[in-house]
Amino acid sequence: MRTGDQALIKELNKNIIMNLIRNQSPISRAQISVESGLNKATVSSIVDELIHDGLVTELGPARSAIGRRPLMLGFNATAGYAIGVELGIEYVHVLTVDLAGRIVSSHESPLPATDVGSVISEIAAHIEDEVSKTPASALGIIGVGVGVPGLVDFASGTILYAPNLNWSDVPMRTLLEERVDLPVFVDNEANTGALAEQLFGVGTEDENAVYFSVGTGIGVGVILNRTLIRGSGGTAGEFGHMIVEAGGLRCSCGSRGCLEMYASTRALVSKYAQIAGAGASFDDVIRRIRDGETLAVQAVDSVGRYLGIGISNVINGLNPSLVVIGNRMSEAGKRLLRPVHEMIRNAALGVPASHARVELSSLGRNATATGAASLALNDFFQGPFPYAHATTSRAGAKS
Ligand SMILES: [Zn+2]
Repeated sequence: MRTGDQALIKELNKNIIMNLIRNQSPISRAQISVESGLNKATVSSIVDELIHDGLVTELGPARSAIGRRPLMLGFNATAGYAIGVELGIEYVHVLTVDLAGRIVSSHESPLPATDVGSVISEIAAHIEDEVSKTPASALGIIGVGVGVPGLVDFASGTILYAPNLNWSDVPMRTLLEERVDLPVFVDNEANTGALAEQLFGVGTEDENAVYFSVGTGIGVGVILNRTLIRGSGGTAGEFGHMIVEAGGLRCSCGSRGCLEMYASTRALVSKYAQIAGAGASFDDVIRRIRDGETLAVQAVDSVGRYLGIGISNVINGLNPSLVVIGNRMSEAGKRLLRPVHEMIRNAALGVPASHARVELSSLGRNATATGAASLALNDFFQGPFPYAHATTSRAGAKS
């Protein structure tokens, strides 16, 4: 048990002051003192340290105050950066955000192979590439978050099972930390998508929200009472494997009739090929949907109806105020929402359905990777400052 020694109290006070400045900037020392209940001398000495650390800057005198104008303090969001990685089944998407979660660079490339060794090498190479492009800053890169399509033990950063990659028990955090010398956080990609929408997207006001990540597979991130729900084994939200057709199509999980066999991007592509009698890539099908091509619209109607069944079940079970449809399928746009809404009207209970609005992700292709980066940001802002996980000098841009 940690007792209230001086060092711990100072660490906690510094954390409180850092997060007050981060959330309420511009703010004066006097306002911090009032908000935190800490005396002015303590506030002043800690603020000086945060300025020295590069996390806080003096912005100048307040504009509108009457009388003696206090010096305002600001959060320096470019004091450091975090990297977010989305591991898809067929691609890897890597981006860098500043400490406020604003994207400063982003790139995506196809995944050449899906064996563990190749994927770790590929991700490590992309991270190193982002590190070399990041502007020089006081703290450099503070950490890396990875969103993966599978069941994850968040505490250890282990991928327990990823059916679409055919992976079991992959210690991704350990493998990546050996390669990149940065703290690494790993979570399910639907969880990171949900976090991104909560922090930066359409869900900032919602206490109870679900994020349907509809890509090659389907996963759901569940936020209840503003908290991401991980479940007892870390695997909550696997609604992609709810059965929507008893005895239906065989799924990679071994079961039959799972939602993701009928409503994923793969399902859209194969439905279109079946209706049209000729195949097309996912991007082509999306373009045809947007152009209103009849056969493509029929395919998205089929996918949307199944997605609506899945969403209805989740609305009935969890009573969220928001359902976000994210990941690649959101690119189908409003045309996808029509059959989804129709199915919810027919299938969901009236009361929970009346509370739930259904929206497309506002972050689109960046949702999962941005949410992954936020795992590193969240850890960083829990303190202590300077950051305990800082292992070596991370000066950002290599000279
Ligand atoms: Zn399944």
